[in-house]
Amino acid sequence: MKKRLITVFVLAGILVGSAQGQEYKTENIVLITFDGLRWQELFKGADSLMVNDTGMIETPNSLLADYWSTDPIKRREMLFPFFWNTIAKEGQLYGNRAYGNLVDNQNKMWFSYPGYNEVLSGFADDPRINSNDKINNQNVTFLEYLNRMPEYKGKVMAFGSWDVFPYIINAERSGIPVNAGFAKATGPNLTEKEQLINRMQYEIRGPWDGVRLDPFTHHYAMEALKTKKPKVLYIAYGETDDWAHGNKYDQYIWSAKQTDAYIKEIWEYLQSDPQYKDKTTMIITVDHGRGVTKTSWTGHGSSIPEAGEIWMMAIGPDTPASGEMKIKGQWQSAMVARTVFQLLGMEYPEEKAGPVIKEMIK
Ligand SMILES: [Zn+2]
Repeated sequence: MKKRLITVFVLAGILVGSAQGQEYKTENIVLITFDGLRWQELFKGADSLMVNDTGMIETPNSLLADYWSTDPIKRREMLFPFFWNTIAKEGQLYGNRAYGNLVDNQNKMWFSYPGYNEVLSGFADDPRINSNDKINNQNVTFLEYLNRMPEYKGKVMAFGSWDVFPYIINAERSGIPVNAGFAKATGPNLTEKEQLINRMQYEIRGPWDGVRLDPFTHHYAMEALKTKKPKVLYIAYGETDDWAHGNKYDQYIWSAKQTDAYIKEIWEYLQSDPQYKDKTTMIITVDHGRGVTKTSWTGHGSSIPEAGEIWMMAIGPDTPASGEMKIKGQWQSAMVARTVFQLLGMEYPEEKAGPVIKEMIK
């Protein structure tokens, strides 16, 4: 009798457990990454070492009026008005090391492919993912797990500035449309905007081979959001990392601010549309950190001690409005994938993935 009662309680527990999934309001996920943007700028604004160094900016004093104050709180608001006026009030920002709020890569590579694999599949895979080569990812990303489910099939989309994303997401196997690098919008019913972006992407030449300028990525993604209404959207902005590699601090700062404005535009659209409004969680993070000196800031990778230091943010109907997180603790980008599944009311099937970020869910 006692044993049977226990069985009943266990069964009831399972039922309550699965019913809890229904209580979350999140039905759509928007994941955004910001290649190689340092936590130092996110939490302290433009860096005093670099903001007016003529070796790193084209025109002396060009950044001061818009980005400089002696107060780091003012500086960060000048650089990221959306993050500090909206996400800091309605969402959460992790990674200010001044409070012992640590976010780090689980992988020890500290460059892009290993970083994106970690965010998307939920675990580091240093033995197999140790270069940025265009090799199809053997790991299954959370995007692919979702795209296998009838409820999400055909409703998962990805846009990226870097031409390695089709391999990281394994577009071939996953069937997820990945518009990345210099790919154009394709298909039978292109909108006028998509046709114009296709033209302009060809006519406006950016400085890099494998990475397009972010406006193309952003406007393709915005147009798809409005016309195709994905339930799961991933956008990977790329400029910041490449400007930093080129030691162009002015361009890095301008691009960072523009990306903040793009994310504001996305969030405002989501909150204006009945499919998305108060039913969408937006998570924003980064693939790796970078160095802190005048020479090492341009780079990252395992030889640069600070390059595994990263950050993340979230805003959505199931995330407490804690703002800038000041509790001590350690988080990793490997925790994002399981957290996304939890928000959608499901258990992430990959055992190796990091745990749920419990502070991110009410
Ligand atoms: Zn890089």
